[in-house]
Amino acid sequence: MKRSERPPLSASAYADQSYYIQIQRNLNAQFEVDHDRKRRFMIMTYGCQMNEHDSEKLMGMLGEMGYEEALTKEDADLIIFNTCCVRENAELRVYGNLGALKPLKKKNPDLRIVVCGCMMQQPHVVEEIKQKYSHVSLVFGTHNLHQFPHLLSQSYTSSHLLVDVWDSEGEVIEGLPVARKVGIKAFVNITYGCNNFCTYCIVPYTRGRERSRTPESIVREIEGLVRDGAKEVTLLGQNVNSYGKGLKPLAESTGAGFEQVLNFPALLERVSQIEGLKRIRFMTSHPKDISEALIEVMARCENVCESLHLPVQSGSDRVLKAMNRHYTKGQYLDLLELARRRIPGLSVTTDIIVGFPGETEEDHEETMDLIEKAQYDSAFTFMYSIRTGTPAAEREDQVPEDVKHARFDRMLKRMNEIVIEKNKAHVGKTYEVMIENEGKEGEGTLIGRTRHNHLVAFEGPSAWTGSFALVKITRAKNFSLVGEVVEVL
Ligand code: SF4
Repeated sequence: MKRSERPPLSASAYADQSYYIQIQRNLNAQFEVDHDRKRRFMIMTYGCQMNEHDSEKLMGMLGEMGYEEALTKEDADLIIFNTCCVRENAELRVYGNLGALKPLKKKNPDLRIVVCGCMMQQPHVVEEIKQKYSHVSLVFGTHNLHQFPHLLSQSYTSSHLLVDVWDSEGEVIEGLPVARKVGIKAFVNITYGCNNFCTYCIVPYTRGRERSRTPESIVREIEGLVRDGAKEVTLLGQNVNSYGKGLKPLAESTGAGFEQVLNFPALLERVSQIEGLKRIRFMTSHPKDISEALIEVMARCENVCESLHLPVQSGSDRVLKAMNRHYTKGQYLDLLELARRRIPGLSVTTDIIVGFPGETEEDHEETMDLIEKAQYDSAFTFMYSIRTGTPAAEREDQVPEDVKHARFDRMLKRMNEIVIEKNKAHVGKTYEVMIENEGKEGEGTLIGRTRHNHLVAFEGPSAWTGSFALVKITRAKNFSLVGEVVEVL
């Protein structure tokens, strides 16, 4: 096993992979001649949008190496688990799904099984894989994703598990190919890592310290996406609001207007000027770092959507302090009030953790009171789960499971009532919807999203996918809206 210090690298480190990409491409070409088909891969992605985007990068690299996507696990020659360690559930699913592949590997010894992502940054997880999942071929972490061609190449020459996990992050690596699934919507990283150390969260330990991409590389990437047909981009980071910390101002003007782009509001405004880009979203925002300047940019720039994901986590000041969140319930609600006043119709979503260590009934009441006041359009509610290696995991005042469940159920019930009430308020109104896909019911049904990020189902031909339409809302469901097309734009 190799658990290495980060070797020195340059931002063009992906270029060093071209040799291994060529080797794999040659081997895969030979495989195609021998088997009359290409080598196929399948990626199972767990967790957040950042992980989804990392999987798009893996797919981009696999495409360069001559692989094609398999439809089923049974059809795959290479199965990759891109893991997430933020929630216990996702971790348990990885172990379960890995174990379930043992018979497949027995039947097909040539099958390569690769495990990567945040979970692998934790030594005890790698140890568990070594001990119990000997059918795995390769393990690597979040900091050396760009080395995937080299690592994969090495793993094909060994019958033993190859492990290469870097302990620390490097600088931002540019130039990785990205295979994006939906042409009209794209996700673009603007920062990596996090410096906040919320006491329940493992991300700063697995994704490393915060690093910002340069505005030039972000804008260049988005311009390319728009040329390829993207109409909406979501700017991604663990905390987009602290974008720019550590970036150095350009010594002299390039004429492209990047000199002043050293914080998130400035970046958002610069991105909004990209011609042809119809919608911009961003996530995730830390309430302590949202500035009035950002709210003003959101209010001013037409293509920045009226939708804000603002994780609150708890309504109790005592718990927020213990979580190391650096804001109070009052400050959070003031921020919401300001944002809603400046951005009419703004939809707000959040994350809430129920049952943080030491949480009392009074603390829970504070959170219940907060959700009444905040009137979220939707919320992701989680029961606290211990994440080994975080300060909260060490606390002795863990909330008993039955108490957590009772509080969670109460919260979910009330939250669902609020959300359906808010959804009902849209009935009879007409919204611009970006048509994303065929609906669940198949041909003749479509789904799309409003600027407020509400999912809307309606009837129409699949040829409309990728267009915009005015849709009148006729019915509200728990998690979506139903409507009818007034006009295709
Ligand atoms: S802001 Fe807090 S919750 Fe979010 S990634 Fe950073 S440490 Fe985790």
